[in-house]
Amino acid sequence: MRREGLRWPFPHGLSALLTGQVVGSTARRGKYLLLRFDHGTLIIHLGMSGHLRMLPAGLPPQKHDHIDIEFGAQVMRFTDPRRFGAVLWHAHADGDVEHHVLLRSLGVEPLGCIDLAERLHRGTRHRSAAIKQVLLAGDIVVGVGNIYACESLFESGIHPNTAAGRISHQRYVRLARAIQRVLAAAIAQGGSSLRDFIGVDGASGYFQQSYFVYDREGEPCRHCGSAVRRIVQGQRSTFYCARCQH
Ligand SMILES: [Zn+2]
Repeated sequence: MRREGLRWPFPHGLSALLTGQVVGSTARRGKYLLLRFDHGTLIIHLGMSGHLRMLPAGLPPQKHDHIDIEFGAQVMRFTDPRRFGAVLWHAHADGDVEHHVLLRSLGVEPLGCIDLAERLHRGTRHRSAAIKQVLLAGDIVVGVGNIYACESLFESGIHPNTAAGRISHQRYVRLARAIQRVLAAAIAQGGSSLRDFIGVDGASGYFQQSYFVYDREGEPCRHCGSAVRRIVQGQRSTFYCARCQH
């Protein structure tokens, strides 16, 4: 460790906690990466700009390299220039890591979820917030960021301002399918939302996708030709087609 913490202080006695221990498995929950040990789980959030790399041990750290976890001849280095990242420890004795305060209110993972439409429908009854806001909130489904919320709502023909509680089950079936298709396509193309995203091949994931509505204000809708509109919801820009989305 080369500083006391990032967004929050690093766990007390982290080096002693991990020395000689074995990573049993790794997982991801929402934006949290989980390294599971016998005696607990290391929870890592990359923040806005963080990244993890496996490097040969012994490479001198640079300015923004905050934590090294050594695995024999290799080191897992956590770099985070903007320092919004986090490294936390959840002891096995404190119960299932899914119950950690940062994880317990997270919605379902959209990819591979077989009842996403039901969860969206059931979770939004009596909810008057706009569907775009509900998707971004992450308490029903995680991982649907601003770009993918805009694109999924366009693909399913749902106006982003529609009260979530007024959307029928049938329309949620279409939305769930759109979310899963849009996310799968984005992953296949190497991600998109981070300007500094670097794939394993070193290529940037940015600018590789052509969106239907996202960031296309004033340009013609690719379905009907009318101008794509932009509104602001919760301080985030939403792009949509007023003719295709109701
Ligand atoms: Zn249109």
